[in-house]
Amino acid sequence: MRIVLVGPPGAGKGTQAAYLAKNLSIPHISTGDLFRANISQGTDLGKQARSFMDAGQLVPDEVTIGMAKDRMAQPDAEGGFLLDGFPRNVGQAEALDATLSGKGVALDAVLDLEVPEDEVVKRIAGRRICRNDSAHVFHVTYNPPKTDGVCDECGGELYQRGDDSEETVRTRLEVYHRETEPIIDHYRAQGLVVTISALGKVTEVTERAMDALKQSQG
Ligand code: AMP
Repeated sequence: MRIVLVGPPGAGKGTQAAYLAKNLSIPHISTGDLFRANISQGTDLGKQARSFMDAGQLVPDEVTIGMAKDRMAQPDAEGGFLLDGFPRNVGQAEALDATLSGKGVALDAVLDLEVPEDEVVKRIAGRRICRNDSAHVFHVTYNPPKTDGVCDECGGELYQRGDDSEETVRTRLEVYHRETEPIIDHYRAQGLVVTISALGKVTEVTERAMDALKQSQG
């Protein structure tokens, strides 16, 4: 399957993407993770992306689209993938559509995770992520680790993303409404959008998502 996951920051895209990709046996491709890996490796691409990310703005399309296409061209993504955080504007969506149709394939679904705005800010401000694996996500109040600052899954160090401060979250939300939400209409016109609520336990949301994806293909 070829799936796009869309939703505001804090909707739980990264967490859900990891479970869904595992259930569906397809790679989880997160442009945010790719950028963060480039930053920690000190690559030119990471240097180009950093200031935009720190400010909560989108990294320019010239950088982002090439990186996403390279990743999708890897052998493990031949039979399908789950995109998390890409496309993030209509230009990227059009580039993705053109790339896929050039290969004679198409998206199967666009899963839209819905979550109220005040919940988003609460979720992000308390979010703590494992340095070893960004799918290991905790929350200081809603899902605290057993030991402060230590990942329950692998013992890795938990940290707060630099762009998870309340001020940057507000900017990221504005960017989401202005740039990313229009891709939902873009894909609705293609009959691909499946919307689910992202509220509740992680496992409940995963089940909801799997059911919705099955129904959309039925
Ligand atoms: P995420 O991990 O998906 O929340 O992404 C973190 C940050 O990476 C975003 O706030 C953007 O600055 C940048 N980013 C990730 N994906 C994209 C994209 N598709 N287009 C532009 N910027 C992106």
